[in-house]
Amino acid sequence: MSTTSGAGALNYRNGTQRSSLRTQSSTSTSSGGQKSSVKSKSVLRKSSPAALGGGGSSKSGSGGDAGVPGRVRVAVRLRPRNGEELIADADFADCVELQPELKRLKLRKNNWDTDTFEFDEVLTEYASQKRVYEVVAKPVVEGVLDGYNGTIMAYGQTGTGKTYTLGQLGEEDVADRGIMVRAMEDILAEVSLEMDSISVSYLQLYMETVQDLLDPSNDNIAIVEDPKNGDVSLPGATLVEIRDQQSFLELLQLGEAHRFAANTKLNTESSRSHAILMVNVRRSLKTRDGLSSESNGNSHMTKSLKPPVVRKGKLVVVDLAGSERINKSGSEGHTLEEAKSINLSLSALGKCINALAENSSHVPFRDSKLTRLLRDSFGGTARTSLVITIGPSPRHRGETTSTIMFGQRAMKVENMVKLKEEFDYKSLSRRLEVQLDNLIEENERQQKAFVDEIERITVEAHNQISEAEKRYANALEDEKQRYQNDYMESIKKLEENWSKNQKKLAAERLALGEKNGLDITSNGNRSIAPALEEVSELKKLLQKEAQSKMAAEEEVNRLKHQLTEFKKVEASGNSEIMRLHKMLENETQQKEKLEGEIATLHSQLLQLSLTADETRRNLEQHGSEKTSSARDSLMSQLRLPQIQDPGNAEKPPVARLFEQVGLQKILSLLEAEDADVRIHAVKVVANLAAEEANQQQIVEAGGLTSLLMLLKNTEDETIHRVAAGAIANLAMNETNQELIMDQGGIGLLSSTAANAEDPQTLRMVAGAIANLCGNDKLQTKLRSEGGIAALLGMVRCGHPDVLAQVARGIANFAKCESRASTQGTKRGKSLLIEDGALSWIVQNAKTETAAIRRHIELALCHLAQHEGNAKEMVKEGAIWELVRISRDCSREDIRSLAHRTLTSSPTFLTELRRLRVDIRS
Ligand code: ADP
Ligand code: MG
Repeated sequence: MSTTSGAGALNYRNGTQRSSLRTQSSTSTSSGGQKSSVKSKSVLRKSSPAALGGGGSSKSGSGGDAGVPGRVRVAVRLRPRNGEELIADADFADCVELQPELKRLKLRKNNWDTDTFEFDEVLTEYASQKRVYEVVAKPVVEGVLDGYNGTIMAYGQTGTGKTYTLGQLGEEDVADRGIMVRAMEDILAEVSLEMDSISVSYLQLYMETVQDLLDPSNDNIAIVEDPKNGDVSLPGATLVEIRDQQSFLELLQLGEAHRFAANTKLNTESSRSHAILMVNVRRSLKTRDGLSSESNGNSHMTKSLKPPVVRKGKLVVVDLAGSERINKSGSEGHTLEEAKSINLSLSALGKCINALAENSSHVPFRDSKLTRLLRDSFGGTARTSLVITIGPSPRHRGETTSTIMFGQRAMKVENMVKLKEEFDYKSLSRRLEVQLDNLIEENERQQKAFVDEIERITVEAHNQISEAEKRYANALEDEKQRYQNDYMESIKKLEENWSKNQKKLAAERLALGEKNGLDITSNGNRSIAPALEEVSELKKLLQKEAQSKMAAEEEVNRLKHQLTEFKKVEASGNSEIMRLHKMLENETQQKEKLEGEIATLHSQLLQLSLTADETRRNLEQHGSEKTSSARDSLMSQLRLPQIQDPGNAEKPPVARLFEQVGLQKILSLLEAEDADVRIHAVKVVANLAAEEANQQQIVEAGGLTSLLMLLKNTEDETIHRVAAGAIANLAMNETNQELIMDQGGIGLLSSTAANAEDPQTLRMVAGAIANLCGNDKLQTKLRSEGGIAALLGMVRCGHPDVLAQVARGIANFAKCESRASTQGTKRGKSLLIEDGALSWIVQNAKTETAAIRRHIELALCHLAQHEGNAKEMVKEGAIWELVRISRDCSREDIRSLAHRTLTSSPTFLTELRRLRVDIRS
């Protein structure tokens, strides 16, 4: 016998049972031959049977149909003598003798004959619970953890230790813990509670009824077979999730209590029923292609598309009813029916095992519920480990023998161990759904963020673009303006310089020509010397030119400086001037009011003197008797308006005077000897002439002539001023304008203007002439009589009021001229230009005083309308003013008029093109 103990023993072949059962005797053991025959037989039957629960090599591909052969492993366990046996059997030897190191059991037939049986494991009465677990159960439990189904079953006579082996809880002594408790400890130690799950059912099979030990009310559970793969399940059984050992122990206790209660109720004992513990272990594989990791990021989507692999191992622990029941039907007071039922499952199991052991074509699994439930355990895909328990008592030799025979037959049952591994499509789909939803959400978020970002950038870009465009346009405009101004300025300067140089050159050429002519006549041969001289002369000239240019530049700078200084002073002065102007205006108003009052008083005085005169004359003519009445009437006349005529109370004094005294009388006073009288009279007339309603009457009464005469015949400036004012008022009427002209008014006004010092006098005269200037028929006459010259002469005074009237006159005149030229009645240059008005116009075109500038701008536009003036206007620089007006004038109509005139004149257009000045529309 060379068989070794230990792990190697697990691979020990079984299969010699028949021969050993029949004949093997202790004396004729020929283990070598026997063993070889066992081996060859075994090889014949099935190849490479797995060890008892061993099969670490059988981890075949998941889901592969071909399993690995794995024989049912059988261990025999001998219970120690109990108290009773120690006494009763004291004189007898045990009916069995164990040779654990040889895995043999010798069954004593009688004192001289024994039968020897080999088992996969032989466990003596001294075998510890721990060792029993490790030898019988551990490999099966490990298989379950790896995804194989496993069965651990105890078979034997009642009282031989099935429950002790399987179900002992070991509450008092941990060393007593049985296979169930230890198996769960190993499983719990191995699985991950996050990823794996353990669920347990605990059932009792009694009289072909499956009862739920975890829920006593659930006492008839159906066994369901999958028609496709034959898998058996108990969907009605309570499944309890196990997460720790304690809860499992409580579950076993609960099951045991229920079993006890059920048996009491049915008046049975536990030995008549089968207890079945089912432990489902579901494990997810972590490390296969990183598949089942739930924490896979989205980037691993492709990998995650493979479903996770789960392994589902089911451990079934069966504590069978006492084996003695098979043969003891009808005994112990059982009804026949009961006995049949009790034995049905066990005997069916025996029959199935027999059929399997003999390779029978038919295995009657369907005969009982137990065999249906254990279909996978015998001849199926599970690893199965069977413990047969025997007692030592020779009194039970028969039972012991039948138990041993059962074990021996079971050892011949070959299973095809299969890995229970499958793809977990459900959890994959669940996980993918979650991932998909996450992705959809993320995508939506990103899209929104993207759209928002785009919108923001677009708005920002638009803003920036418009900002940049604005800045660019402004800069461009400024640059252009600056450039054009500079350009125009330099062109002007250049032209000036050029004409100056031209003149100078012409003069020099003349001088040189004379000299050369002399040289040629006196010296026929022209030597190089004079040429050199000429060159040096020219150089000198050039130097001089450069010097004078520098000097001029210096002068310009100095002037510029002065100008800025002056501007500063002017600016400060301007405000002062404004203030003074205001004061002056107030003063003037006050003065005018006073003057009005004075005039009233004067006129009253005048009337008094008139009345006095008349009275005197009457006295002289009619004697003294009438005097008093005449005086009375005069006095009453004088008083009447103030006292008696309420209807006239609101009329101005002059108007009342006019009504009461009569125009003729007032006019006659214009020629009075007394200067004072004349002054008052002219004021009265001027006041009357201010009213348009009186004007015709005044003129018809010869007032105009009288006023003109006053200009001629008096030296008094006040009279001149007031008369001119009156004439100016009358000159607003066209008929009067002609009358004034006919009576030599221009000449008179001109000489008045020439002699006047007072700006107000000049203003009146200029106003009068300006009015005359607006008459189309009088243009030539007015000019020939010196009207324009007089106007231009008055600018010497510089008073803005005067200048405004002069400008108005010029504008009026230019307007008439342009009208005439469009009507074709006027040809040639403007009379204004001929009289030299243009330079004044150009000089004053930029004046700050709005009233002046407005008239000048209009005058320029009118002048420009006539092509005959264009050349002169270009020459005098008026064109630049027009360009400026066309751009800067605040009045839209004037601006467009200037533009129109510039663009409609060929001369202007040529000039502008020449100077590359852009006239925008
Ligand atoms: P069965 O379940 O087969 O009817 P039990 O497990 O109930 O038998 O065992 C009967 C008795 O024998 C129990 O009191 C049990 O404690 C005891 N017993 C069985 N096997 C052993 C053993 N190996 N060591 C000690 N006592 C045992
Ligand atoms: Mg028991």
